[in-house]
Amino acid sequence: MIRFEQVSKVYPDGTTAVDDLSFEVAEGELVTLVGPSGCGKTTTMMMVNRLVEPTSGRVLVAGEDVSAVDPVELRRRMGYVIQQVGLFPHRTVLDNTATVPALLGWKKARARARAAELLDLVGLDPATYGARYPAQLSGGQRQRVGVARALAADPPVLLMDEPFGAVDPVVREHLQNEFLRLQASMRRTVLLVTHDIEEAVRMGDRIAVYGQGRIEQFDTPAAVLGTPANSCVARFVGADRGLKRLSVTEIQPDDLEEPPVARLDETAAVAAARMRAEGARWAVVLNAAGELHGWVSSEALSLAGEQGTVGDLARRMDAWVPVGAPLKQAFSEMLQHDAGWVAVLEGHRFLGVLTPSKLHEALRRSVDADAHGVGRAEVGFDSVADV
Ligand code: ADP
Ligand code: MG
Repeated sequence: MIRFEQVSKVYPDGTTAVDDLSFEVAEGELVTLVGPSGCGKTTTMMMVNRLVEPTSGRVLVAGEDVSAVDPVELRRRMGYVIQQVGLFPHRTVLDNTATVPALLGWKKARARARAAELLDLVGLDPATYGARYPAQLSGGQRQRVGVARALAADPPVLLMDEPFGAVDPVVREHLQNEFLRLQASMRRTVLLVTHDIEEAVRMGDRIAVYGQGRIEQFDTPAAVLGTPANSCVARFVGADRGLKRLSVTEIQPDDLEEPPVARLDETAAVAAARMRAEGARWAVVLNAAGELHGWVSSEALSLAGEQGTVGDLARRMDAWVPVGAPLKQAFSEMLQHDAGWVAVLEGHRFLGVLTPSKLHEALRRSVDADAHGVGRAEVGFDSVADV
């Protein structure tokens, strides 16, 4: 959808901001450009909407060379969120949000209705906030308006330059999660610039790690964290990259172990005998529909003798996560509940349990899958092993 072909930018003062850059962002993909300040991220982004013209090379959007498109026309087709948000101070929140639809000549009522819809979408009640001016909002609220404004004309492409930069870490994480939720349903093509590696790996389907004016590595977050292409990338992603990978690797059904299972309505004696035969010390308790009810120890079952059912003796299972959740969430559940394993559910249905050794395997699996043939021996798990 967005394609850079050998693009360079040398500013008139001789600064080479971008040097022979080639990469592509697929339709519906969110790519983050990440790197230290001054490495050319903003310049790259501005060449997409022609706020900056390349010195050489081409930028294509939906197959069309942007240099052939009228810049004003081009910018109306793309949402653009900048760090300083850039709201018009003398316009209300509603009018700010309706800026592009108004420029596109939508009828006023339609533009305002759309703006209200968008404010609602980003978590701002239009009745409360629509009539306010930007100065009457918190930093986080202003950034929400910035995102709403960028989305107002329903553009297929979104350019976001440090969009959550001006707020504190808690609000930032909240806005990031909200945006990811939106993006999951919108599936826009998004180029997001950040200097924050945490933000880059959390948000990006793929991330482009910049050095000076060049991309050092362009791959999935798990691959960049698992197998940095060179020492420059390794330094930038940080010594705790193993830990960071926990947050970008999802639990898959293949990662799970099948523990001993007892049925809710079985008698304790039957379940106890079976567990003795299997040498199991505990079992997961499921109902007839295969849904998680809790867990039971073989000791409790044995003590019950001929009395009662598994259901009477089952205890609640607090440590569980949905399938597809990041490994970090499973790990955090284990720590929080002081559990040696967590149950993994699909809806209410029980799929299996994740143990620490399976968690480790899942991390390896993600590297093997992503690293295109890089051997395990080259992959360091040092920081995970430390915890
Ligand atoms: P980033 O967004 O990664 O911080 P920029 O793309 O803003 O980096 O800048 C890349 C390099 O180009 C920097 O060295 C910066 O000083 C330089 N630069 C940016 N804009 C201009 C400009 N208009 N004129 C001259 N140099 C510029
Ligand atoms: Mg910048």
